[in-house]
Amino acid sequence: MSATIIDGKAFAGKVREKVAGHVSRLKDGHGITPGLAVVLVGEDPASQVYVRSKGKMTVEVGMKSVEHKLDVETSEADLLALIARLNADPDIHGILVQLPLPKHLNEDLVINSIDPAKDVDGFHISNVGLLGTGQKSMVPCTPLGCLMMLRDHHGSLSGMDAVVIGRSNIVGKPMAQLLLGDSCTVTIAHSRTKDLADVVRRADIVVAAVGRPEMVPGDWIKPGATVIDVGINRIERDGKTKLVGDVDFASCAAVAGAITPVPGGVGPMTIACLLANTVTAACRANGLAEPEGLTA
Ligand code: NDP
Repeated sequence: MSATIIDGKAFAGKVREKVAGHVSRLKDGHGITPGLAVVLVGEDPASQVYVRSKGKMTVEVGMKSVEHKLDVETSEADLLALIARLNADPDIHGILVQLPLPKHLNEDLVINSIDPAKDVDGFHISNVGLLGTGQKSMVPCTPLGCLMMLRDHHGSLSGMDAVVIGRSNIVGKPMAQLLLGDSCTVTIAHSRTKDLADVVRRADIVVAAVGRPEMVPGDWIKPGATVIDVGINRIERDGKTKLVGDVDFASCAAVAGAITPVPGGVGPMTIACLLANTVTAACRANGLAEPEGLTA
């Protein structure tokens, strides 16, 4: 069997088009321009790249992008004061604080100071609780992107056996909640899971969010299963730096029914979902109907 490749790059393009359509309706019909503020503390090179591409895509879909680049030495009080100003600014509908923060800043405190209605990363404790209890929330972008691709591929996920490998707060746990919300039977695996191969072999859906290059081999995959590879790992191969996922693409693609590649799978969906969350937040803030198909 040779798997269908789920093209996250193309799908993300469609999501951004949908977002752009909603943005232009908000502008033309209601005089509202959704605004996203991104806060970056310090000069971590990877974070700078992410922030740049978030800003560029925000503008491309017609939204307002505001970037706050703060010195690495910025105090917690100054960062919290900036977030308080953004919380109070009616032109800002989404606030994202780029992680990781420098060590002297308390990440939980900072994230939980964002107005939950503007928390487009979905990391605020209120949004985590709302998602966990099946209520309307801001959903973390990466798992939301995975869910959108799974729904697009399968239609209904009801009754499917899903395994999420990884239990982080930003990917694994919210992913499991979303799959449960779509009536999958969900297993969360992690570094202490006994016989991971056996657990994965039972799954119709495998989401790998581990951070270990090509850890999942094809002989762990149930024939016809759908494999969503969240991992982004840089490795050296044949003298070149290469990006690979958490699953061994070639052997898994030979057995799976569908699979996301790395790069070009989950990655592009993450920023598309950030834009989707921002337009959703702008609609909610103004008491307008939410865009369909852009939320969980
Ligand atoms: P974390 O390091 O926070 O979590 C990794 C999880 O994997 C942990 O729960 C850990 O278990 C589990 N794990 C580690 N080793 C094993 C093992 N041998 N067997 C089973 N489980 C194991 O990572 P993140 O969730 O933040 O990210 C995961 C991957 O996804 C990374 O490659 C990251 O770069 C990528 N990523 C990609 C994004 C995108 O946009 N595509 C966005 C975010 C992340 P335990 O809890 O027991 O330690």
